[in-house]
Amino acid sequence: MSKDNILEPGLKEKLSRQREQEWRKALRRDVSARKRLESRRHKMPEQPAAQRAANFLEVNQGYSLEMAREEAQRCLDCGDPGCVSGCPVAIDIPTFIKYIESGEIALALATLRETNGLPAICGRVCPQEVQCEKNCNLIKAGKEPVAIGHLERFAADYVRSNDQTVIESACGQAQGEKIAVVGSGPAGLTAAADLARLGYQVTVFEGLHLPGGVLTYGIPEFRLPRSILNQEIDFIRSLGVEIKTNFLVGRTATLTDLSQAGYRAFFIGTGAGLPSFMNVPGENLLGVCSANEYLTRVNLMKAFKFPEYDTPVPVVKKAAVIGGGNVAMDAVRTALRLGAKEAVVYYRRSRVEMPARVEEVKHAEEEGIRFNFLTAPVRYVGDDRGRLKGLVLQRLTLGEPDASGRRRPVPVPGSEFEVEAELAVVAIGQSPNPLLIRQVEGLKLGRWGNIEADPVTMATSLEGIYAGGDAVRGGATVILAMGDGRRAARAIDQLLRKC
Ligand SMILES: Cc1cc2nc3c(=O)[nH]c(=O)nc-3n(C[C@H](O)[C@H](O)[C@H](O)COP(=O)(O)OP(=O)(O)OC[C@H]3O[C@@H](n4cnc5c(N)ncnc54)[C@H](O)[C@@H]3O)c2cc1C
Repeated sequence: MSKDNILEPGLKEKLSRQREQEWRKALRRDVSARKRLESRRHKMPEQPAAQRAANFLEVNQGYSLEMAREEAQRCLDCGDPGCVSGCPVAIDIPTFIKYIESGEIALALATLRETNGLPAICGRVCPQEVQCEKNCNLIKAGKEPVAIGHLERFAADYVRSNDQTVIESACGQAQGEKIAVVGSGPAGLTAAADLARLGYQVTVFEGLHLPGGVLTYGIPEFRLPRSILNQEIDFIRSLGVEIKTNFLVGRTATLTDLSQAGYRAFFIGTGAGLPSFMNVPGENLLGVCSANEYLTRVNLMKAFKFPEYDTPVPVVKKAAVIGGGNVAMDAVRTALRLGAKEAVVYYRRSRVEMPARVEEVKHAEEEGIRFNFLTAPVRYVGDDRGRLKGLVLQRLTLGEPDASGRRRPVPVPGSEFEVEAELAVVAIGQSPNPLLIRQVEGLKLGRWGNIEADPVTMATSLEGIYAGGDAVRGGATVILAMGDGRRAARAIDQLLRKC
């Protein structure tokens, strides 16, 4: 494989402007535009459903270079690209796609990395259908949107697997000040990367033994292989960020200790790892657990390789998962891969209200997962040894919209029914990790125990302390967490420059 150092600082911007003019000229020729409109979206190659339901290998196989270039040709290069405004970190989508079209993949990746330090991850897990792709102007022409997410992952994967190197825009002048980032999820990693680029000495403190947050302990390998995640984290380290694992801020050291050790500003990105339960009878039975515990055992502690790895996980014939988000999809598909013959999702609203990514629901159905909508457990039933043997569920109907804007589920009287299950995984939401944030005196918290932060600067009620991601929003998304990290980095820089 050849090393391909093609980007010098400043060159990309020059090339980008020049190319933009060329592309616009080409577009004026309507033959090309018509062709773009006529072509169909390339489907993502996948492992066959029956095969993948029995392994933890990645489901999506990625575009070839030829497919990616053809897909990139579908981009209309609109004057007012809605895709960019639909992206929470405002990636320059038309430019990176045009680079793929012209076969300059390292430049495409450099464009992505200007605003997104984790493109191989976002290309895999972002809900593009409600963000960038939703605003693609091809939709107005009655066509499927450009596969922006698939192209994003392609650029990152292609450069990596072809051993190309992207020279990053030079880091800012060394500032000298030390900044502490607490938590190594997407919020913390993004804040750290941006601050390192601005020239600060950044240390990320992570309580677990591996960095990555939910990307490591929550999202399974069949959606996000660890090798991909590790390479993205290595890239952030290459910017000069130090990551200290097994360091629980609040226990190993307090924020005051870190401040005394010379850290001038803090970003708290401690996530929302505290699972919610429904408080229905039987939740303490063996076999009822939170999705957080179940997925951590499998993903972080590698229980799917038990006994090669020490951590066990229940392997059952009948599994029930409660919830309708990405977490529920990951849990139920994991149960299936661990050998469940019957894996069923029970969700209290209807399919339309499911917050999970459309692709995850489609994949789950193809793999044989069953969905039971408008149902919720009212109690869990145990055997005489305290082990789960079933659930009593109740049917629901949709009433008036609640505070979330979604129609409120209302119980149907007398509709209870019982099903058998030896495992019930509860995936109904989570709230912010309380350990650190509850002990910081004067830190203003919201109703759900979340940190209150200014939506523009991510500043908290305490000077020099910023926060973002799920610790502020409750359970949200990777890209929203990254956007918070990015805004906080900018604000921290402004604060320290003033001092
Ligand atoms: C199973 C699952 C699947 C998901 N799927 C998707 C998806 O497909 N697409 C999507 O966009 N979003 C998805 N999400 C949501 C997304 O992963 C989160 O919104 C995102 O990870 C939040 O990032 P964060 O950096 O705020 O927190 P996290 O990723 O939770 O990271 C927080 C980190 O802080 C560490 N920490 C906590 N307290 C301390 C402390 N006191 N000291 C040191 N370290 C500490 C934690 O150990 C953790 O590593 C999913 C979530 C889950 C649980």
